[in-house]
Amino acid sequence: MCNIRDNLRNAKRIVIKVGTSTLTYDTGKINFTRIDKLARVMSDLANQGKDVVLVSSGAIGVGVGKLKLKGKPKTVREKQAIAAVGQCELMHMYSKFFSDYGRIVGQILLTRDVVEDDIRRKNVINTFENLLERGIIPIVNENDSVAVEEIEFGDNDTLSAIVAQLVGADLLIILSDIDGFYNGDPKKNTGLKLISVIEQITPALEKYAGGPGTKRGTGGMATKLLAAKIATAAGVDMVISNGINPEVIMDIMEGKDVGTLFVSNKRSGSSGQ
Ligand code: GLU
Repeated sequence: MCNIRDNLRNAKRIVIKVGTSTLTYDTGKINFTRIDKLARVMSDLANQGKDVVLVSSGAIGVGVGKLKLKGKPKTVREKQAIAAVGQCELMHMYSKFFSDYGRIVGQILLTRDVVEDDIRRKNVINTFENLLERGIIPIVNENDSVAVEEIEFGDNDTLSAIVAQLVGADLLIILSDIDGFYNGDPKKNTGLKLISVIEQITPALEKYAGGPGTKRGTGGMATKLLAAKIATAAGVDMVISNGINPEVIMDIMEGKDVGTLFVSNKRSGSSGQ
């Protein structure tokens, strides 16, 4: 019988989202080993002829590390300033590691008003398409230095699903500090079960999602489930997996049973929520 994950091998356009907790240590300093592996695996996928887009958090987290601050900033104006520093550092890092594997990167910073306006959305889609045609790897983040409540996405899980929809991706992979979607919060309870495949997001599943995640990251399972709803409704398969070793991306692409696969409505036949 054909496994529902086998189809992931054929994904041509893939958006990969990494969270701050994957990119940095608890000290706030950058995890070079992971960024290096991520750059290697993504460059390898590009060499296979796939289109790859990275959605990366970390502007604020890396800014905190670079400026040697004690914790995450609290006010909007502090966040904006610190993100301005961290985003530069982050892109410098990505540019350096991807160039080791022969790839050029391009930065796209988004706010909600851009994707909600027809003309601006078309323009940004053109930017993605042109970068991808040139074999350049787009790296996306929220434009934290200008984003205020009215125009922000708020979290990069949601942003990554919107980007997957914008570029017409086949697959969205969210790398996090958790192995996948459980029937409860594994950080609070033991003996829970990782759900391998989810074909429909039911109210029971939403109850499992709980509240926000780690002190360095922003999301948690609730935002990942929201991302899954946006992605699957847009015809994009989505996998949540642990980013501790970014080589897991290759396992996912080979259809191995890792993390949790949310099957797109196009494939599951569900009409969504
Ligand atoms: N855009 C934020 C940053 O780069 C992260 C938001 C998130 O992790 O969800 O720091």
